[in-house]
Formats: sequence, C-alpha cells, structure tokens
Amino acid sequence: MNNEFAQRRDLIGAGLAARELDAMLISSAANVRYLTAFTGSNGALLVLPGEALFFTDPRYAIQSRREVSCKTQVCKGPILAAVAAMVARRRIRKLGFEPAHLSYDSFHTLSDSLPARTSLEPVAGWLEAHRMLKSETEIALIRRSVATNSRAFERSVRRVRPGMRESDLAAEIDYHMRRLGAEKPSFETIVATGPRSALPHAHPTSAVFEAHQLVLIDMGAFQDGYASDMTRMLFLGTPSARVKRIYRAVREAQLAAIDAVRPGVTAAHVDRVARSVLKAFQLDRAFVHSTGHGLGLEIHELPRIGKKDKTRLAAGMAITIEPGVYLEGFGGIRIEDTVVVTQNGCEVLTPTSKDLRVV
Ligand code: ZN
Ligand code: ZN
Repeated sequence: MNNEFAQRRDLIGAGLAARELDAMLISSAANVRYLTAFTGSNGALLVLPGEALFFTDPRYAIQSRREVSCKTQVCKGPILAAVAAMVARRRIRKLGFEPAHLSYDSFHTLSDSLPARTSLEPVAGWLEAHRMLKSETEIALIRRSVATNSRAFERSVRRVRPGMRESDLAAEIDYHMRRLGAEKPSFETIVATGPRSALPHAHPTSAVFEAHQLVLIDMGAFQDGYASDMTRMLFLGTPSARVKRIYRAVREAQLAAIDAVRPGVTAAHVDRVARSVLKAFQLDRAFVHSTGHGLGLEIHELPRIGKKDKTRLAAGMAITIEPGVYLEGFGGIRIEDTVVVTQNGCEVLTPTSKDLRVV
C-alpha cells in the first residue's frame, strides 16, 4: 500500500499552487495516517511540491521506519520547532495549516518560531474532502471491519438474558471484537436498555436487562485503522403492538434512505427521504439527529447525511444510514448500517439481519 500513500502525498503536493501555498503542514493524526501510514500519536507532515517530510519523536523512531515511506526526521525536541526550522531552511513563504487540528498553544509556538517572512494560512477540510472518496483498498478494509463487527455482535448477543447489565454486554462486545481482529471499538460501545435507549448516545451503566424491554446496541470496530458502525435492537420477551409499529417505521425509513443512496444525489436528499417516511408515521419529531455520516479512518467523517449537507454523493463514499425514533419514557429505536456508494446505487456492507431480535 506504500504506493497509495505516496500517490496521496503527490496529489496534495500538486494542489499547493492552486491554493497559493508553498507548503502544507498536516497535524491531524488521521490525516497524517492517511498520507503516511503512520499509526503513532505524535507526528506531523510537511508537504511541499513533489516532496514530503515527516516529523516524529524518538519513541516512534523504529515504528516510523517500518511504516512511513517518505523522508523522516526524528526530533529530540518539540516537533513544531523542527518543522519551523525546516520551513526557514526551505524559504517557505506561505505555509498552510489545519485550523481544526492545531491547538491555540501549538499555533503560537509555531508562529513564534517561524521567520517573519513566512505567513500561516488556515486551510480547512482539504484532506477531509479527499478522504470522502475511498480507494478500493480502503473499501476492502471497511468491509473487513464491518464483518468483524457483525461477528462480534452475534457472539455477544447469544449471552443476553434478563439480569445481565448493560456494561456486561458492552464488555462482551469489546472482548469479542478484539478476539476477532479489531484493534479497539471505533467509539464507546452503546448498550442502553428500556427508557434509557431514548438517549441516542447513552453510556453503558449497571442497569440490568428486564423482561418486556428494548435493548439498543450501537457498536463499531477499528480494524487496520478503518471504522465500522452498526445499531441493532433486541427485545426481551414479546414486543407490544406499539414497539412493533415504531420498529416498522424506523425500518421503512432506513430502507427508503438506503434506496435513495446513489451517485449525484445530495446528502440532504437522503436525510429528507428518511424523515418523510417517519413523518408518515407521525414520528419525524422524535428523530433528533441526522440520518448518517461518512466513516473511514475516523468514525465520523464527511459527508454528514443531514438536512443541510449539499455534498453530492459519489461512488466510493462510505457512509452510515441510521434513522432513529426517541420517545421519553418509552425508549429509542435506531437501525444503522454501513454502506458504500457504488456506480448505480449503493451496497449495504452490514450482513446482520435487520429484524427486531427477540430474546
Ligand atoms: Zn453507530
Ligand atoms: Zn453512526
């Protein structure tokens, strides 16, 4: 995959002139990884036309030799001081930086050590826009992460019974994920039972599963750096007519949104489709978040499948589709899959059944 990383760096290097930059400093860990394969926590990349220089500290000397194919400087002192020295040596006048990924302190450290002739230019979302379109290699990695996640779900759900705590099931899920090849969960695993499932981002607690209750499970893995994301619902006992009706509404909204995913449509259109189905069930006001999000090296990437995102979907984008309904006192129901936009529609990567699982 070395070649792919070099190609990505070349693409950014070739785009500098159009942005009137002499060089671009990449400080976001995910963007550094995207351009270099570096998996450590302290690294920065300086991209110049036709060249890229990677900076890290001695803890990562061995690791960076194995992972990074471009020229590397292992810095004894602060990385940004070394970057500033290089910028001075190369007589760089306009240096782009990532405003969302450089702390206020780091910005000042950098600007204080740069020569007076060098100006710092904020460049937002450049790499993130590139990362929206996944390569074949990346899609293969996401596919594998999704498969691991679904297998971990199956292994964990077998153990569900009344009396089990939310945190017990979350621990089972995380354990199986790792046993099956994931590095870690791609976010804190959500297990929420009964009325707590109405909290879209609930943290697992010591609340126990009881009969006649919903259980919402939202889980994702990072495998070889790439994220998966899935939400499924369990019901302990026989679901009531109300549970079945709301479940059907969410499922129809999710299927309609998946059906709407194809190259050329906007992210906002897909969101609207999900919302209009829930509106027919008079449940649209209980859908309190957006329909989905891109994912890849990070669990939340562009595009945002929400009301205001005018991004046109294109083949190679990996996104989630996850409408939900949240009613205080009753609970929440969400169904989420990871899908990839294809030439003429999309492919649902998540293999897990979408039926309400009765245990
Ligand atoms: Zn999720
Ligand atoms: Zn999600």
